[in-house]
Amino acid sequence: MTSESLQASRGTHDIWGTEIRLWQFLEQHARRILGQANYQEIRTPIFEATELFNRGIGEGTDIVSKEMYTFTDRGERSLTLRPEGTAGVVRSLIEHKRLQQGVQRCWYQGAMFRYERPQAGRQRQFHQLGVEVFGSDDPRSDVEVIALGLEFLEALGLSHLTLELNSVGDPEDRQRYKAALVDYLTPYASDLDPDSQVRLTKNPLRILDSKNPATQKILAEAPQLPEYLGQDSQRHFERVQSGLTALGLAYELNPRLVRGLDYYTRTAFEITTRELGAQSAVGGGGRYDQLVQELGGSATPAVGWAMGLERLVGLLQKRGETPAPDLDFYIATQGEGTANLSLQITQMLRRHGLRVEMDVSQSALGKQIKRADKLGCQACVIVGESEVATGDITVKWLATGVQELVAFPSGFSDSAVWRQKLRPNP
Ligand code: AMP
Repeated sequence: MTSESLQASRGTHDIWGTEIRLWQFLEQHARRILGQANYQEIRTPIFEATELFNRGIGEGTDIVSKEMYTFTDRGERSLTLRPEGTAGVVRSLIEHKRLQQGVQRCWYQGAMFRYERPQAGRQRQFHQLGVEVFGSDDPRSDVEVIALGLEFLEALGLSHLTLELNSVGDPEDRQRYKAALVDYLTPYASDLDPDSQVRLTKNPLRILDSKNPATQKILAEAPQLPEYLGQDSQRHFERVQSGLTALGLAYELNPRLVRGLDYYTRTAFEITTRELGAQSAVGGGGRYDQLVQELGGSATPAVGWAMGLERLVGLLQKRGETPAPDLDFYIATQGEGTANLSLQITQMLRRHGLRVEMDVSQSALGKQIKRADKLGCQACVIVGESEVATGDITVKWLATGVQELVAFPSGFSDSAVWRQKLRPNP
């Protein structure tokens, strides 16, 4: 009887081999850059009560209305795999009363789940890295998070990035704009694409996102959001722009940028690249001064962003980024009597903090050395019967082919000697 082989679910992806090294590199990079700015990592559960996302993200959004992985557990609770990170972070900070303790800066990373049509750069399980700052409506906190996002990307060596910026105003500003937009679009309703027709009553601002050429043509003459900003939103927006300019950060104003989630207020931004084809957004975010209150906390202003890690890995791969080799030494053996000596050398080198793999395949010596090469090791330690007899161990430097004899144990006990001979660790 044969059974059908199992495959990863549609829209999911196994990460391993050279790709996982890029992920680890990205994670280290994030820890360093965000740690420098004193952002604290937070890990929240992968599933939460469905209500959290319904209330936090908004019922009219694509995410809540058609993309959530929602299920009922054995205790009849409705749970949802998190489609984004912010709602869970807010829930956690309210629950643990951290918002009463002054400004909180945090970051997270992890898997998110959306039932979308999979395509290059768009998956059903994907990973985001995000930052949030709670407790300040100072425009400098908007500038800080945007600058941090750009710094994170630029320190990775990614260029061709564009920062698109808009202000979606306060809820009252948006209400006035929504009314004006609906007034303008209603006479054209039958010419809009079907999605936009539905949005005209459900969530008119999302029409601004439409890629449909006919809809875009109609939008060309539509009223623009920034014209509807009240004085406070206007002043906030100007100060954000002035802060970005003071830091030498270029931006493009995009009055149609509204983002997919309902909770944004005032600043909205997206970081895009031309290198990713159709899925050009690397990340995005903005200010969300209403969300904490909507989720049951006391009114707390907040600002943050999220980036898609698959897209960043894709950019690094495209650039031909090859992670540094993982290993310093490979321990090859030949002959039964070499077993204990190879164990001892392996342990000694690892205790010096070096990265060592011991061959346990029992294959021919030539094959073992080939594997050492393939793994990108710097040197292969060859332990044969004659080495056991004399105590002089052959070390072969793989880049040059040069071999030397090193006495065991004295020659292996001084880690400084090895560090000098090895290329530095990445
Ligand atoms: P959002 O939470 O929709 O603002 O998304 C923030 C970032 O996450 C986007 O700019 C993308 O880089 C990434 N992203 C969002 N959805 C997906 C997805 N389905 N697959 C891969 N990356 C995604």
